Amino acid sequence: MADSLSVAQGREYLAIPGPSVVPDKVLQAMHRPSPNIYEGELSDMTDGIIPDLRRVARTRHHAAIYICNGHGAWEAALANVIAPGDKVLVPATGRFGHGWGEVASALGAQVEILEFGKSSPMDMDRIASTLREDAGHEIKAILAVHVDTSSSVRNDIAALRAVLDDVGHPALLMTDCIASLGCDRFEMDDWGVDVMVTGSQKGLMVPPGLGFVFFNDKAAARRSELPVVSRYWDWEPRANPEEFYQYFGGTAPTHHLYGLRAALDMIHGEGIDHVWARHARLAGAIWAACEVWGQDNGPLRMNISDPAHRSHAVTALRLETGQGTALRQWLEANMGLTLGIGLGMAAPDDPARHGFFRLGHMGHVNGQMILGLLGGLETGMRALGISHGRGGLEAAASVIAGR
Ligand SMILES: *Cc1c(COP(=O)(O)O)cnc(C)c1O
Repeated sequence: MADSLSVAQGREYLAIPGPSVVPDKVLQAMHRPSPNIYEGELSDMTDGIIPDLRRVARTRHHAAIYICNGHGAWEAALANVIAPGDKVLVPATGRFGHGWGEVASALGAQVEILEFGKSSPMDMDRIASTLREDAGHEIKAILAVHVDTSSSVRNDIAALRAVLDDVGHPALLMTDCIASLGCDRFEMDDWGVDVMVTGSQKGLMVPPGLGFVFFNDKAAARRSELPVVSRYWDWEPRANPEEFYQYFGGTAPTHHLYGLRAALDMIHGEGIDHVWARHARLAGAIWAACEVWGQDNGPLRMNISDPAHRSHAVTALRLETGQGTALRQWLEANMGLTLGIGLGMAAPDDPARHGFFRLGHMGHVNGQMILGLLGGLETGMRALGISHGRGGLEAAASVIAGR
């Protein structure tokens, strides 16, 4: 019989793919009395936040901030460029592609889904032939998720731009970087992205509550052609405010702005290139461990088989024995470690859904946290009698050590 003793007391690690770990510096920055929302520090601070957000998004173009989550940012972006009846193309590589398409559909768009399944990236040839068939340019926008957090696939957005250019199709290229921004390399201007949406609670390390939409002049021109734009989601006054309240369409998200200021200082203090390299290195350590654990008939499988298509922010996994839920529960109760549930990988009434789970490794994560996460996983597999290849932690340590 197993000798079980919970060792969960201590600082917990919420290793789910958002909300991510909030740094103490961000929490401390938010811990303050309400500031004046009409003038002074808050409004000066916001003027400085916009250029620093642009630097994370790698764009010289416009930025709008909303008080909302990622779903709100989806709707905000669409409300400025899509009129009822417009056609949009959704190359779906997981649950979140479908989710964005559903928001477009509810706004009256005709949504064409190109389905790429739950464990593969977008196939650019299929997208190219769909665009070629659209000789009349009915498709007004492509809604592309950079990292689909349900499958943990990372799509090649630069390649998607190249497809649009090759075909000579004028559709707007819109990307969802809610999971990837500040984790996986993303170059809005260099990759020719017209509109990008993200949220505060993943790579940006701030609690949920802020949504961001970045857009270029081509998208701004499209906005001017629309017969109506929802008052709240209209990006124009937010991107070019004459009065402070126009940034937010009302009361500013006071405490979130202080948190965001601290988070942006952390990101730019480290350097965005280093932030990306850190995420890549830590993701590589996770993959190395999972690879080893899956050997010797172990039931652990990574959802995305080709490392070139894996996100550096989230890893979707499956235990072929169906013990993913059991593993999550054991780790939470015994190790102070919370893993993410599987999302959209199996129907709610399909018992196979209990095999799926996800690791969030986005934002404020370092080597000791990732080794703790992996050590926890190995401990959980041992406790539950889940067979696994030996040497996973050693493989991870070797990736982090670089030798
Ligand atoms: C988290 C996430 C969303 C949804 O964000 P919410 O804040 O939960 O509305 C959308 N897209 C991607 C890729 C995400 O990771």
